[in-house]
This record gives sequence, C-alpha cells and structure tokens, in this order.
Amino acid sequence: MLLTKRSQILEESITLAITTLAKELKAKGEDIISFSVGEPDFDTPKIIKDAAIKAIEKGCGKYTPVVGLPEVLKAVQTKLKKDNNLDYETNEIVVNVGAKHSLFNCIECLVEENDEVIIPVPYWVSYPEMVNYAGGKAVFINGDKENGFKITPKQLQNAITPKTKVLMLNSPSNPVGSAYTKDEFKELAKVLENTNIMVLSDEIYEKLQYDGEFCSFASVSEDALKRTITINGLSKCGAMPGWRFGYLATKNKDLRSAINRLQGQSTSNICSITQYAAIPALIGEADNDIQMMKDSFYKRRALALDILKDVKELEVIKPQGAFYLFIDISKIEKDSMKFCKKLLEEKKVATVPGIGFGLDGYFRISYATSEENIKEGLKRIIDFIKNYK
Ligand code: PMP
Ligand code: GLU
Repeated sequence: MLLTKRSQILEESITLAITTLAKELKAKGEDIISFSVGEPDFDTPKIIKDAAIKAIEKGCGKYTPVVGLPEVLKAVQTKLKKDNNLDYETNEIVVNVGAKHSLFNCIECLVEENDEVIIPVPYWVSYPEMVNYAGGKAVFINGDKENGFKITPKQLQNAITPKTKVLMLNSPSNPVGSAYTKDEFKELAKVLENTNIMVLSDEIYEKLQYDGEFCSFASVSEDALKRTITINGLSKCGAMPGWRFGYLATKNKDLRSAINRLQGQSTSNICSITQYAAIPALIGEADNDIQMMKDSFYKRRALALDILKDVKELEVIKPQGAFYLFIDISKIEKDSMKFCKKLLEEKKVATVPGIGFGLDGYFRISYATSEENIKEGLKRIIDFIKNYK
C-alpha cells in the first residue's frame, strides 16, 4: 500500500472545497453568490500591511526561532493580558501557521492511539479529522438546540471516561455562533477538576462576539488555566486569513517543548514577514479597523435574520458571534449535502451542508459578504425553498 492508513482516512476540508468550487465557477463566468467561505471580506488593515512592507524592506526574510520572534511572543503575551486577563510567560507561547496548525500541533502531541477527545456537535469541520489522523477517537456530545448546542456540565460528565484526554471548546462557535458565559465555563471547569483532561480552547472568533461578554476558558479558575491551551489567531479578527498567523499558550512546559520540536521538524517558523505584520494587530493598533469590521458584521447579521424571519420552512438559530447562520432545514430536507448541491446547481448559491459539521438537516451560510450579496443570495434561497421538491 502506497499511502498510510492515516492519510487515507483524512477527509477533504468541506469548507475549503466548496469555497474553491464557488471561486472556480465564478471564474468561468457563472453568477455565483458564495456564502461558503469563513473569512472576512474586508482587506487587511493598512497598519498591518505597512508593518509587513517595512519588514520586507528591512530584509527580515531570514529564519526566525521556531516558536516565533521574541518581540512577537511578547506581543501575544501583551494581548492575552490586555484582552483576556491571562498571565502567560513568553516561553509558554508558540506562534503557528494559523490556528488550524495550533490545534493540529496540540492534538499530535497530546492524542495517542485510542485516546478519547470530546467534541461538542456541531463542530468546526477539522476537529474530528485531526483527532482521527492522530489515531484518537472523537467522542461527540450532542448539545441541545434550545441551548444553542452549548454543552452542559451534566452532558460533559456523562461523556468522560478513563480514556478521555482532551476536551475541545470553541466560543463563539463555528458554525452556530453560540458563546458560553463565564458562569457556564466555570461550571464546565468544575467537572474537569481532579481529572487529567486538557482543554483546547479555540478563541478565533473572540473579537466578533456581538451579544454578551467574551470569556476565555483559561480565565475562569487556576485549575482551568493549568489544563487549558488557549488558541487564537488573526485570520478572522485581523482580516488576515491568507497570512497564516495563529498562536497557542500553555502552562504545560512539556507540551510547549514537544510542539517546539514537532514544528521544528515540520514547518519551522511561520513566515517571518507575517510575524512582523501581526505585532500591530496583537497590541491593539488595528482596533479601530477591527471595530469597523465588527459593526458591519453586526448590521449584516440583523439584515440576514430579518430577511429570513418569516420563512416558516426554516429555523434560524440567532448567533451571538462569528459570522455564520446555522439553519435548520429538516422540515423540508434531511440530507444537507443534497440540499446544498441542488441550491448551488439551481440557484448558484454556495453554502456548506450541516453534515460537514456533524449535523445533517442543517446548512451554514457565512454573512461575511456584502449587503447586496446577502439580499440577493437570501432571495434566491427563499425562492429555492418555496419551490423545493
Ligand atoms: N477554528 C475555527 C472554529 C475556525 O472557524 C477556523 C477557520 N479557519 C480556524 C480555527 C482556523 O483558522 P486559521 O487556521 O485560519 O487561523
Ligand atoms: N474556518 C473557515 C470556515 O469554516 C475557513 C475554512 C477552513 O479553514 O476550514 O469556513
């Protein structure tokens, strides 16, 4: 057999695959509206681009330390203190090729054959794939729709076994946009006390929370801080998805050292220019741009919810953060893949089927696109639904 078992079981990222397909169809001249991609439609703020240009001109194209430049680690440390009230030393931080890479590195270093990783459903597409690739077993918790699919302490308790190694949390979440309150996190953290379970807290949509206050899992208790790997990046909140900047922070020195070695033998440091560009974003110098982006997503969320509010065939869950709507279509179609394929073929609207997030009978739209596209795309979707066969 040419290919390893683990490479054969790896599924293609459905979010990236549909986004690429929508771009290809558009390039061929088709009138596509893409609600598929999970990236801001805004350009990277000027202050970030200027920092990159300056770094290029200064000749900053050499290798950097694997874990990141000292000044970048310092900027991440400043950010975590300033925004999240988290105290991390710079030698507890690693900069990675996007938050996806941060998550991947952690799972590679923590999850052994048959270890269990608890993942709330619906989940971001890559979580179970990373666990499978490491040889682990994803254990799913089906949260209640009425609770925005957030998991409860009781559900968490019931999912824990002696094999549980990691719990993955994502708040605000992709695809639902649900956000945990500090009290909810505190209750979950209590369940983990006296266990060896590590928590991967994916905080990539931190700055795009519209309702309620954002909370970092590690901030809820001393115990939570010790067992949490805080993961974040600039793809969403710095409008830098293609630059590939993510980071992780952990109190666990052994884990940090293992990730340093893994990264040193695989990707080495992330792009040096991206590192210099990230500094202003991390220390708050692009905050006005980020606020402008957030205000705009806030308006688009209201617009999309308003357009869909009277469509009785659909049930839309109001998101508290991120830039997605996760929509229940089970009254008219249980097979989300079939629904999304037909929608693309017949109405030229690209969306992501719920099955990619572990929940059939739903689909996801990203409203990180212009108001004009939202109006036209949702008009097409409503028309499609009204005549659905
Ligand atoms: N986590 C979640 C929940 C996401 O939606 C994404 C989107 N790409 C990522 C992590 C990874 O982002 P990136 O690798 O671009 O930093
Ligand atoms: N996270 C985004 C999404 O869910 C980007 C695509 C990806 O990395 O999967 O659409």
